Amino acid sequence: MFEQLKAELIGRLILTGEEGYHDRRKIWNTAFDKHPAAIVVCKAASDAVAAVKFAKEKEFAVTIRGGGHHVAGTAICDGGIMVDFSEMRKVTVDLERRVAIVEPGATLGDVDAETQKYGMVTPTGTVTETGIAGLALCGGTGYLRGKYGLTSDNIVSVRMVTADGEHLQVNAQENPDLFWAIRGGGGNFGIVTSFEFQLYPLGPEVLALDVMYDYKDAKQVLRNTQAFLRTAPDEVSFNMMTFQMPAAPGVPESLHNKRVIVIAGLYAGDKDGGEKAVQPLRELAQPISDNTGIVRYTELQSRFDLAAPKNVAVAGTSLFIKEFNDEAIDALLAKIELLPRPSLLVQFWECHGKMNRIPSDATAFAVRDASFLLCFDVDYPMEEEKTFKDWIESAYETMLPYSVRKTSYLNTVRNDRQITKDTYGDNYAKLASIKHKYDPTNFFRHNHNIEPQA
Ligand SMILES: Cc1cc2nc3c(=O)[nH]c(=O)nc-3n(C[C@H](O)[C@H](O)[C@H](O)COP(=O)(O)OP(=O)(O)OC[C@H]3O[C@@H](n4cnc5c(N)ncnc54)[C@H](O)[C@@H]3O)c2cc1C
Repeated sequence: MFEQLKAELIGRLILTGEEGYHDRRKIWNTAFDKHPAAIVVCKAASDAVAAVKFAKEKEFAVTIRGGGHHVAGTAICDGGIMVDFSEMRKVTVDLERRVAIVEPGATLGDVDAETQKYGMVTPTGTVTETGIAGLALCGGTGYLRGKYGLTSDNIVSVRMVTADGEHLQVNAQENPDLFWAIRGGGGNFGIVTSFEFQLYPLGPEVLALDVMYDYKDAKQVLRNTQAFLRTAPDEVSFNMMTFQMPAAPGVPESLHNKRVIVIAGLYAGDKDGGEKAVQPLRELAQPISDNTGIVRYTELQSRFDLAAPKNVAVAGTSLFIKEFNDEAIDALLAKIELLPRPSLLVQFWECHGKMNRIPSDATAFAVRDASFLLCFDVDYPMEEEKTFKDWIESAYETMLPYSVRKTSYLNTVRNDRQITKDTYGDNYAKLASIKHKYDPTNFFRHNHNIEPQA
């Protein structure tokens, strides 16, 4: 049956049992052990067109793999056709137009490495192996969000294959409804075969924030951070995380098994002017250590690569938080006390500046009024799945009253119909109608799904 598809591909088709099948079907979250009927390893945009036409005709489900990093495992399904972009990772810089032209299998590391050759950046995320495609289509928050907004806010244009196999140019002038929808609407509207992202000059050296506080001061640290955000300059963006230090070689003994709270971030401006701007974040409490200083942008961007879980099952959820007031902080810290394993990471990423000034109806990405994004990701042994998932659920329920309209970051949350609807909020109806126009049968449904509605 697959002969027809195979003949049309510039790339390869891998069927069940063929060489490479098991390697290719692995995604970041090993909890999703799925078996697609076929994997299309794309080498050109035309391979995605062929895959869509074939899958439609033969009634196969289609999934799309960018970097394969979504915690909800949407890149793969049983019995479907996985369109795999892992061999299309080229990044090209057009300095005249100040855009990066990026293939859909590129990782964040690929993008940063190429753009930095020209002293340029575009907002991405903070772990280099993450795929740019999934990240950009659902938002994308990194250390440039205060100054330049989300990754999705910086999409200048895409080429994409729609459900009827058309290969469209999508930008502010051409197919503007799709252009609105793909900036936050994820993989609902088609398969992106190429992106263009806006570029800005920054680097190669930047001022990076790197401060560690004692967890016993967490309340004071969060309170003071919330106060800092009221007047924070756009140039300063940062993530905070709390975890227990390992009792490992290389870690000072005084820190063994100690719970800490760490701030990592960036001053996205003239590096000499940054010291004053970041100073308040270095004095939120008495630091245990402070390695704030000048580093290469690419070094900062890869700083957390080793900390990211690998080859493990992960459950993850997230909530946009209105404000860390005392009640919300107490609720969170009480939940952290009950973590099923003390070494687990809880993250809070601040939200301010440009990412919050863009009107909530300007693109599909609707949450523009949070002060923090709270992320819980727990990796677990399969035999203890229930314990870890129960903790995730209870942490989510505990923090829900402090959320912004029950919204989550769709790039870091399980696949749930109500969460998806709540998160798109007032934008959902417009998204559903655009979905109906371009994908009335919900062909692209392995995602945080927007159901077509005329
Ligand atoms: C270790 C780690 C670190 C992370 N750090 C950050 C961070 O700093 N900032 C942040 O914002 N997020 C972060 N994330 C979350 C990240 O944004 C999501 O996991 C995102 O989905 C990754 O994209 P991907 O291409 O790797 O995903 P995939 O799993 O490949 O794809 C997820 C979904 O995106 C859609 N999609 C992918 N490619 C295409 C395409 N070409 N066309 C159309 N739709 C497509 C599909 O619906 C697909 O199901 C992180 C995740 C991990 C695991």
